[in-house]
Order: sequence, then C-alpha cells, then structure tokens
Amino acid sequence: MNRFDYAQAQDGAEAVRLGSATGARFLAGGTNLVDLMKENVERPVSVIDIQRLPFAAIAELDGGGLRLGALATNADTAYDPRVAERYPLLASAILAGASPQLRNRATNGGNLNQRTRCYYFYDTATACNKREPGSGCGALGGVTRIHAILGASEQCIATHPSDMCVALAALEATVRVEGPDGERTIPFADYHRLPGDDPARDNTLAPGELVTGIDLPAEGFATHFTYLKLRDRLSYAFALVSVAVAMKVGVDGRIETARVALGGVAHKPWRVPEAEAMLVGAMPSHEAFAGVARRLLEGAVGRGDNEFKIELARRAIVRALQQAADGTPQSQIDKRVA
Ligand SMILES: Cc1cc2nc3c(=O)[nH]c(=O)nc-3n(C[C@H](O)[C@H](O)[C@H](O)COP(=O)(O)OP(=O)(O)OC[C@H]3O[C@@H](n4cnc5c(N)ncnc54)[C@H](O)[C@@H]3O)c2cc1C
Ligand code: SF4
Repeated sequence: MNRFDYAQAQDGAEAVRLGSATGARFLAGGTNLVDLMKENVERPVSVIDIQRLPFAAIAELDGGGLRLGALATNADTAYDPRVAERYPLLASAILAGASPQLRNRATNGGNLNQRTRCYYFYDTATACNKREPGSGCGALGGVTRIHAILGASEQCIATHPSDMCVALAALEATVRVEGPDGERTIPFADYHRLPGDDPARDNTLAPGELVTGIDLPAEGFATHFTYLKLRDRLSYAFALVSVAVAMKVGVDGRIETARVALGGVAHKPWRVPEAEAMLVGAMPSHEAFAGVARRLLEGAVGRGDNEFKIELARRAIVRALQQAADGTPQSQIDKRVA
C-alpha cells in the first residue's frame, strides 16, 4: 500500500471540498476501496472518510417513496421493514450479494460505486484501460468467463458487479448527489455508463461529487417481482447473469407494467424499454417471455469463454418473468432454480 493522507469529513460540504482534490477517494465501508488499495490498483493521494456523515437514515418521502441514505449499510437497508414489505425486489437483490459480514459493513453509496471484478483490472501486471487508460485490455483474447456480452467496447469488456443496482434500475430509483456545484439528482438509468473509449469512468459523477442518498418511487412492485441470480457457487460469488423483474398484473391476468434489468452482462444494469413494452397487455406465456428475452439480448456478443452467457441469460430472463408473473419470487435462502 502507498502512503496517503487521511481526513475525516465533518459534513457533506467538507467531504465535497476535500473529495474534489486530485487523487482523493471517499471511504465508506471500505470493503472495496481498501481491498483495491492493498492490491495496488487504487493509489489515492488522500482518503476522505465519510462514515460520520449524517446519511445513514432511511426515511419516508412525500408521495409515498422512500429515501435510502448513502451510508445506510446494505444489511440495514435489506432488513428495514419498509424496504422488505414495499420493495422486496431490492431486499432480495441485496441479500443475493456478498456475505452477511460484508453486508453489515458495505454501504449503499459504496455498492453503487464499487469497481469491476475483472481479473485483469485487479492484476497490476497486466494491461487494463480501466486501471491505466491507454494501456490496453488484458481481457480481450484472455479469460472472459465473467465478462460482458452487451454494451462493451473494444477498449473494455468488463461488467458492473452489483446486485443491488440491478434492482434499483428496475425500480427506476434516483440517485441524490452533492457536489461542488450544489445538489442534483440522477435517474438510475443515467448513473452508470458504458465503457466506450473512456472505460476508466464507471459512472457519471463529476469530480468531488458525493452520493448522499437513493430515492425509491412509491411503486415498489411488491406482489409480482423476482431477483434471479446465477453464479458459479451458491454463496459469496458475483453474478454470471442476474435478472430483476418488476411487474404489475391486472385482475384479468394481463400484464400492465413490466420492467426487466439484467446484471452480469454489461458495464451497467441492462434495460431495453422496447422489450418491456412488448409485455404490456399480454397474458403471461412462455412465448411472450421468450420474445422479450430475444429483444433484450439483441446484439449480444460472446468472446470465447463467456459465449455460454447468451443462452444462460435467455433462459434466466424467461424463468424470472415466469416467477414474477406467478408471484413466486426466487428465494435468496433456498437458491435452487429447479
Ligand atoms: C468477497 C466479496 C464478495 C462480494 N460479493 C458481492 C456480490 O455478490 N454482490 C454485490 O453487489 N457486491 C458484492 N461485493 C461488493 C460489496 O457489495 C461492495 O464492496 C460494497 O457494497 C462497497 O461498499 P463500501 O461502503 O464498503 O464501499 P467502499 O469500499 O468504501 O467504497 C467503494 C467505492 O465507492 C466510493 N464511494 C463510497 N461511498 C460513496 C459515496 N457516498 N459517494 C461517492 N462515492 C462513494 C469509494 O470512493 C470507492 O471508490 C462483494 C465484496 C467482497 C469483498
Ligand atoms: S475488460 Fe476492462 S477492466 Fe478488464 S482488463 Fe479490459 S479494460 Fe480492464
């Protein structure tokens, strides 16, 4: 680990001021940042500890939504009775991630901003445009089992590893940010970015901008939802493919609203509004769900080891849509998908 300055921010404004300096990094739970510092991947000039800031509450919003503080832990968020009852898709996605110990420490803001798990990003002996812009991409032509099949570029084929973010995308959450130019909100779809020719940037935050909270809209899709996560082993593993579905079904059995977000396949949670629109007014059926899967995966490209993900994703989408329509969400305790 390199030498770095350390400061404890006393309020949001101070965090933003200190965090705007070149080479500064915010420290929340530290479960990702400290790991990356130990691996010599992150070499901050200064670490701004934000753990004492007053952003750990979960509070009701006017109009029926809920505000999740950026510093609320993943565990406190998933087990908050309002989240569990009104936004079970989010609770389920959080509980599908990491381990109880990590979720007790990891924060919501940190989860949004965690870096990719690409092996080459972690290995400083290899080329990586995300870690060292312009150095190349070790994954291209390398081992690609966990890499992207959608939205990638010739500069970077990494995926975003978060489970929570896949549910937040389907719920159409809003990210609240405080920065040098004041406060602003970012719709979740615009928060993470595709790699293009600038893979070093994972999201659309400006330098110094601090996430203070995440707003959930009033509609939580508490009856018809699922978070289906497929991984190499049942615990402690990132998604190869995951699917969050939020759905509303009318009294006549027809689908009124459908949202589908994919994890593990791209640089950001992957949504295709046209695919979701195909379900509006339809009766739940294998054929309808297979059509949605085809549309969602249009343009999917495998690169050697990860080609299996295209068929895996297709099947996972159909299964997740069926689970949501049936009102039988995937259990994160019994993770079998028999
Ligand atoms: C073994 C292991 C397994 C894991 N498995 C999963 C999994 O299956 N699914 C999953 O989703 N995650 C998984 N994780 C990742 C874990 O969820 C993240 O490490 C955690 O959510 C990060 O939160 P943190 O508060 O510890 O962030 P930190 O490590 O403190 O910060 C992470 C990044 O976010 C930035 N940051 C933090 N807070 C803010 C803020 N408020 N505003 C702006 N920037 C901020 C930091 O500067 C840093 O760049 C796993 C982690 C480990 C170590
Ligand atoms: S896929 Fe992206 S993160 Fe991985 S080595 Fe290539 S540039 Fe780096």
